[in-house]
Amino acid sequence: MKVDDLYNEYDKIFASNKMPFIKCKTCDKAYYYPRNVCPFCGSSNIEIMISSGTGEIYSCTEFKGGFYGIIKFPEGFGAYMNIDGDNIVIGRNVIIKFREIGGKILPYAYVD
Ligand SMILES: [Zn+2]
Repeated sequence: MKVDDLYNEYDKIFASNKMPFIKCKTCDKAYYYPRNVCPFCGSSNIEIMISSGTGEIYSCTEFKGGFYGIIKFPEGFGAYMNIDGDNIVIGRNVIIKFREIGGKILPYAYVD
């Protein structure tokens, strides 16, 4: 699969309000950022999966009045995104929600 195809698939999955990730069928590791070879073992034997859509704040920083950080997912990958809600601190559980930004549907983490 080409990287462009991965981005297109991600856009389609985001548009149906689901959280995609990539699983390597060779080493069994999971990652988020669309790459057509596994960053852990270099295999191109990968597939797009759908996350449960819940996670935990692994790191966060405030920037221009908003919060951003890495969300850790139970499927074993992390993703950098906006974080919304009250009480944004490391370790809090989040659910993934979606909103349109610049004509694209994108995920963000919401402290539940
Ligand atoms: Zn791999």
